[in-house]
Amino acid sequence: MGKEVLKVSNIEKYYGKKGNVTKAINDISFTVSEGEFVGIMGASGSGKTTLLNAIAGYTSYSGDIYLADKNINKQPVWLRSCRYLNQRLYLFPFMTVTQNLWLAQYGAKQKRSKERETAILEQMGIAHLAARYPHQISGGEQQRVALARALISQPKLLLLDEPFSSLDWETRYQFWDLIDSLKSKEITMIMVTHEPREIRALADKTILLSKGQVVTENSIL
Ligand code: ADP
Repeated sequence: MGKEVLKVSNIEKYYGKKGNVTKAINDISFTVSEGEFVGIMGASGSGKTTLLNAIAGYTSYSGDIYLADKNINKQPVWLRSCRYLNQRLYLFPFMTVTQNLWLAQYGAKQKRSKERETAILEQMGIAHLAARYPHQISGGEQQRVALARALISQPKLLLLDEPFSSLDWETRYQFWDLIDSLKSKEITMIMVTHEPREIRALADKTILLSKGQVVTENSIL
């Protein structure tokens, strides 16, 4: 395993105001190495999404988060070198696949690279769909575009919140293979899932949450 990419140190998050406070996550600490795939499991309400939101910068928190040795607590979401993928794809319907990728590079203040666009579409197996609009491709293909868009800005970390759970099983297995091929490219990923088979197929390490706390951190669940 490579060097440390992410360090989450004593993260806490409360929602609500005095008298009506929910402690969503409570003193969570862990590290993730370069190229590692970490699965996060836990019952509904155990704080999984809040944890990913804190890492991505979508929500405030107390504690410290370091990405590639840099404290990112004060970094706004658009400057953090992480991308977030869930079941909602947020592809722009009036833009082609290529234009969606172009916009992601623009948003990341990256110079547009057509070679990188072609390479990532080939890697996702959708190079032949480059000129199509989202409504002209299937749900699984749209998810591949969303994955390509997340990766085109070469983030240090990819956060996945059950992105495949609404897909049929055959398509889901294909995504597992795709994710597995990304692991060999040293892409670091954290994935929330309720599916133990997904964990067994992909995860190097599993973090089990209960009531906002880490109850187990295991290489094999
Ligand atoms: P999970 O992803 O494991 O289902 P969440 O992180 O969504 O858990 O939620 C953890 C706890 O925080 C739950 O008790 C939930 O009700 C509460 N919570 C989540 N989001 C909010 C919010 N925006 N306002 C108030 N409470 C919230």
